[in-house]
Amino acid sequence: MTKRTDLPCSEQALRDLYAALRLKYFRGPAGEPLLPPPEAVRVEWSDRATASAGLCYPQQRIIRLSTHYHARFPQDVEATLLHEMIHLIVPGHGPEFYRWMERIRALGGRVQRYARERALPKRAVWSYTCLSCRRSYAYSRRLAYGGRRHYCTHCGPVSGRLVERRLEP
Ligand SMILES: [Zn+2]
Ligand SMILES: [Zn+2]
Repeated sequence: MTKRTDLPCSEQALRDLYAALRLKYFRGPAGEPLLPPPEAVRVEWSDRATASAGLCYPQQRIIRLSTHYHARFPQDVEATLLHEMIHLIVPGHGPEFYRWMERIRALGGRVQRYARERALPKRAVWSYTCLSCRRSYAYSRRLAYGGRRHYCTHCGPVSGRLVERRLEP
């Protein structure tokens, strides 16, 4: 069991950091926050993540940061958290992940494409990107009709058409 004193910061501080990073880096074209508000996400330390720096379960809105990793590399807390925050809206580490990384870096943030982590289960993920606001929605199962009968909840049924992509793990 990891002693709490080994942690670079408290869990409350992690949640505060999530809230600050969300507002600083994750905004849509009109400045609207793209990630769920802090009270709708669980950001926590995990003693069990030993092989990875962080984990993200986007559907359950859970981010876990490894106590082991960050006890060794406390300077990486923000970079790991940013990486996992991207996974809340982008599965995998493809071009879209890269675009987010570039955006964050342009604003002064430090984030890496490959943190030492396992972000997602090893299976294909279906991604649906809104043509208007470019938000992505990820599902482990394909939506019926290739997503053509779904629409972006932010943009509505008229402008929020979704483009389907299959992402390899
Ligand atoms: Zn990742
Ligand atoms: Zn949209």
